Amino acid sequence: MIKSLWFKFLILLLSVSVISLSASLILRQMIINDFNEYLEGEKEDKIYRIMAVIEGSYERHSGWKAEALRENATWALLQGYEVRISDDRKKELMDTRKAVESLPPFMKRRITAMTDFRMDSPGEREGEFAGYPLFLAGKNIGSIEIRLLSSTRDRGKETIFFERSNRFLLLSLLVVGGLSLLMSLVFSKRLTDPIKKLTSAARDISEGNIKSRVSVSGVDEISTLARTFNTMAGNLEVYENLRRKLTANIAHELRTPLSAMQGEIEGMIDGLIKTDKEHLLSLHEETGRLKKIIEGIEELSRAEASVLELRKQTIGLRPFLGNIKERFEKLFIDKGVLLSLECNDKLTLYADPDRISQIVINLLGNALKAADKGGRVTIEAGSEDKEAFIRVKDTGMGIAKEDLPFVFERFYRAHQGGLGLGLTIARELAEAHGGKITVQSEYGRGSIFTVYIPYFTISS
Ligand code: ADP
Repeated sequence: MIKSLWFKFLILLLSVSVISLSASLILRQMIINDFNEYLEGEKEDKIYRIMAVIEGSYERHSGWKAEALRENATWALLQGYEVRISDDRKKELMDTRKAVESLPPFMKRRITAMTDFRMDSPGEREGEFAGYPLFLAGKNIGSIEIRLLSSTRDRGKETIFFERSNRFLLLSLLVVGGLSLLMSLVFSKRLTDPIKKLTSAARDISEGNIKSRVSVSGVDEISTLARTFNTMAGNLEVYENLRRKLTANIAHELRTPLSAMQGEIEGMIDGLIKTDKEHLLSLHEETGRLKKIIEGIEELSRAEASVLELRKQTIGLRPFLGNIKERFEKLFIDKGVLLSLECNDKLTLYADPDRISQIVINLLGNALKAADKGGRVTIEAGSEDKEAFIRVKDTGMGIAKEDLPFVFERFYRAHQGGLGLGLTIARELAEAHGGKITVQSEYGRGSIFTVYIPYFTISS
């Protein structure tokens, strides 16, 4: 569990949350400091205002007047401050208690209720008095001691502020923590699901189910990995099928000549067949045939696998086919067959030149075999829709109707001589290019083999 992606995600998201929460804690502390500073400033402003009012009343009455001092002390109380006012000889003239005591009963009740000033046990909840001198025109006229009453109003404001910020922090902790948990679950599931699918597909393949694939959507790295995995599995399947086919073909093709050879050798051992040069030569011929079959099978397996390793390039068809014609012309002349080429100069093909030439050579070889002296073989190339075609026409013996459907099958031969692999190889190579090969033939009149390869351009 500690090593699982889910847990790693959780740790990652929680770390991010802790960092952001620490940032909000610092922010909160800064706001609280600012708020406290603001409150302090407010307090000082009020104290200076109270002092200015008391100094003003001294000036107005040209000295300390008990009535005026009572009013001042009451007003200071309404501002939330308890005061003690003394003259310049430090004799106490007035304090908040005396001022409140002297108020008419109704006013007294009202003011004590409004200000939370407790006549019975004053000072219990309050802070220390702070003393300030009072001046008028530069002359000391007395002093004032003052302290803030911890009125419910101010305390309420602060408490509400702190409580709210604490609640906000707790809430963000819960929300962020919960979200981290949820997101780590969702993300790890989204990330690990395709990996799990890949693992199970890989396990399937390792257990022999080579058809297993992963469904892919999206374009991220894991999707690319899944696509690459599917391509790899596809190639593995192709190779596996080739291997199976090849094994079956080899077994089938080799069994007959090998049985014949075995019978001949057993006959020799038993003394039924002479061990002379003639029989040894016949055996030697058989081994030669076996070798040819093996070479043919190798060539076929290369053709079948060519879909995985085509080296495509742009081929100018006329020089390309002209070159092949030149190489084979002598064989045709020797047999008295006319070989001609008809191809548009500008026709190009995008394909693997080695494989295409192998197709054409196989078709030409068959046409030469089929043609009689005085016959004709024509190579034609052109374009139809989105395909280029190369056609090999001959005026040879043609193929019987009953053979025609099978000429592309492995080891199928309508006449003695060949291995029956040439057309199979040609078809495999054409299909490797996404193309096809077709045949038209009339027995006794000739055949037309056409190879279609998609993608061609006619250069301007
Ligand atoms: P191979 O030529 O080695 O026997 P192929 O696969 O090339 O094998 O051809 C299969 C069979 O198709 C040949 O045995 C032959 O009978 C027939 N065939 C192919 N091409 C022609 C052709 N141009 N004319 C007549 N028969 C043909």
